Amino acid sequence: MPLTRKIKGCTGYVGTVSQASIFGGIMYELNDVVEMKKPHACVVKQTGKKANAWEVIRLGADIKIRCTNCGHIVMMSRQDFNKKIKKVLKKASENN
Ligand SMILES: [Zn+2]
Repeated sequence: MPLTRKIKGCTGYVGTVSQASIFGGIMYELNDVVEMKKPHACVVKQTGKKANAWEVIRLGADIKIRCTNCGHIVMMSRQDFNKKIKKVLKKASENN
């Protein structure tokens, strides 16, 4: 089964493979660093740009992400998260 295939009429949530979620080709797992469509309001000192790197710290019916720049935590429903995620910047499983 091509799990990354988009399913028409689906609200976004397709299913889980252990801790991983698949949505429109974006697969994210706990501790991944993701980029959102809207950056955080805080600014990265080194670059002067708005921070847009969030670590997934909770993955359940609700999702919690933490701004890697200022530590601010945002919680939202999985459905919301699937709408707001842009891409995965760093896979937790690629740390080794
Ligand atoms: Zn921030």
